[in-house]
Amino acid sequence: MHVEVRNLNKHFGDFHAVKDVSFDIAKGHLIGLLGPSGGGKTSILRMLAGLESPGSGEIRFHGKVVNHLPPQERGIGFVFQNYALFKHMSVFDNIAFGLKVKKTPKAQIRDRVMELVELTGLKGFEQRYPHQLSGGQRQRVAFARALAPEPQLLLLDEPFAAIDAKIRQELRSWLRELIERVGITSIFVTHDQDEAIEVADEIMIISQGRLEQKGTPWDIYKNPQTPFVATFIGESTVVEDASQLKGFEHAVQGSNTRALIRPEYIEIGLKNEFTMLSATEKGTVKHLHFRGSEWMVEVEVRGHKLITYRSLEKTTLEIGQTIRVLVHRAYLFNDSESWIVENR
Ligand code: ATP
Repeated sequence: MHVEVRNLNKHFGDFHAVKDVSFDIAKGHLIGLLGPSGGGKTSILRMLAGLESPGSGEIRFHGKVVNHLPPQERGIGFVFQNYALFKHMSVFDNIAFGLKVKKTPKAQIRDRVMELVELTGLKGFEQRYPHQLSGGQRQRVAFARALAPEPQLLLLDEPFAAIDAKIRQELRSWLRELIERVGITSIFVTHDQDEAIEVADEIMIISQGRLEQKGTPWDIYKNPQTPFVATFIGESTVVEDASQLKGFEHAVQGSNTRALIRPEYIEIGLKNEFTMLSATEKGTVKHLHFRGSEWMVEVEVRGHKLITYRSLEKTTLEIGQTIRVLVHRAYLFNDSESWIVENR
């Protein structure tokens, strides 16, 4: 379903937890709400679910305002980190629960549960109880249970947070496929950058109650719109005084301009590796870390430390060695603005 949120606000006492948040989610999309702890992600999700009422603003599903609809009338399914399964019920009965509440005929319940058991890879586990399942299997039952009544929106709050790293990785690709197959609009909360980048069609970065940016993972990485987003997503080095950065002096605005540089936009090498030597400047290799497929190199240029990578095929560098450095692109920002500059 198409979700529209307009100027959503939420206060808890004096605390302004969600600040004027607006966004649209297209039908069938999977959106990741990403941000630091306490930023307001869960509060936004709970308002969409109807578990919390907005202080002001509007939530529309299919163009209709749902602010006052109770959760059970919103056509949503939930999977929460701690939304435990019913311990005394078998996998079958857990999945069937929502359908029984809706008084669905027995034969229909059976068919739907079997369909979901198949879809979530739980065939053969129908008669087991939650304590006889692994963490990953339990979470798959939780997904099947949420999907059984055919919701039009799936809300997931850190669904894999309690699961260990290896299984979590498997569940991520599993979830991606599941959502594609079912074609259901879904929103999931995470504070794990990799998880959001890997799973979501679009990411919304939430910090201190505000929506900082919404976009595809690639777009957010490449074109961050706020300093917060630039530092939160991906690796980078910050140069406190951007006027010190060769090739970027002309782009500096005001005395307080800082530059943020992604490793892939810093090229380092020996003199003979550059055709335009005049565009480069001298640097010193400070640290080298072997990373399996490449070297991570910390290089110092006029007192600024920059982090970049160098592929294994190239000549090995040594600590203390003088090399040439070329910064191709930087994200510049001062107290009020930010802009991206290419070094040509
Ligand atoms: P996390 O990743 O830690 O779950 P979050 O981004 O989901 O964080 P929320 O749970 O939405 O953040 O909380 C946002 C802010 O609102 C936090 O500072 C939290 O302490 C506060 N908050 C949330 N619920 C309540 C409540 N019922 N009463 C008072 N304050 C609350």
